[in-house]
Amino acid sequence: MGAHLCSEAALPRMGPTPVSLVWLPQQRGGARAVGPEERMSAGHQGSQDGQATGEALRFHAAARGAQVRMDEQGRTALRGASFRDGIVFSQRPVRPGERVALRVLRHEPGWYGGLRVGFTRLDPARMAAPGLPPFVCPDLEEQSPTWAAVLPESSVRAGNVVCFWVNHRGWLFAKVNAARPLLLRKDVLLGSPLWAVMDVYGTTKAIELLDSGASPCVTATLGVPGQKAEPEPKALPGEECIICFHCAADTRFVPCGHPHFCSSCAWRIFEDTAKCPMCRWQIEGVAAVQPPRTGEGS
Ligand SMILES: [Zn+2]
Ligand SMILES: [Zn+2]
Repeated sequence: MGAHLCSEAALPRMGPTPVSLVWLPQQRGGARAVGPEERMSAGHQGSQDGQATGEALRFHAAARGAQVRMDEQGRTALRGASFRDGIVFSQRPVRPGERVALRVLRHEPGWYGGLRVGFTRLDPARMAAPGLPPFVCPDLEEQSPTWAAVLPESSVRAGNVVCFWVNHRGWLFAKVNAARPLLLRKDVLLGSPLWAVMDVYGTTKAIELLDSGASPCVTATLGVPGQKAEPEPKALPGEECIICFHCAADTRFVPCGHPHFCSSCAWRIFEDTAKCPMCRWQIEGVAAVQPPRTGEGS
């Protein structure tokens, strides 16, 4: 399965990173076979599921890779030596739609590839840390119902805020600072509690979990020096987005082609339901279009 985003770069290497990650649809889709090794996930029902789902996210204190050191609050995770054994989990399940927000604290050059993020059905409370494999991708994925992806290396520099979530269709998204969301994969199986899993891998040396409870996505409100959200163009009469009636309609949905939405509204629809409001067709992507200008015909 060569298209698997996670299967690249299991070994450290020097040199530039070919970024293969795109937000456009992957054809992989569908249910993912659960690996034969159910041992690690056995009995995940009924532990702490559902309880304390409003509690701030921390790293699970016990289930962590052999190289991970944490602060007492479980908010920061630092990988010691090597590029591997950096797996960490959230201490509680994360609901579909709930954002997991983190900041990259330290970047260590000299490795190939960085942070991996995703979700797993493994209950970290029922896992023995020595049993953890060195990598989320591909090891933990092969051993358990886990869905993760590699983030583009350019997006996981120190200081960047990364937010990731699974939507109600099982699509895994990530968002870096104020950039547009990246669709990472579309095959996360819902229906059981999902814990966030992160691999503090390679060039990503340390991360910090952020509070995302106050905002639908913390990256929308957290400023990062030198990077700000693109200003929304104010629409001319007749060219407004039909959702917000303020910004210019400058996108169209792929594949149905329906325009009439500004990029903010289009992306929000894509993230939330991924259904075109005009025709209910499934949205696979959002394309930019130039709004018609004065002097052009219809
Ligand atoms: Zn709009
Ligand atoms: Zn449509």
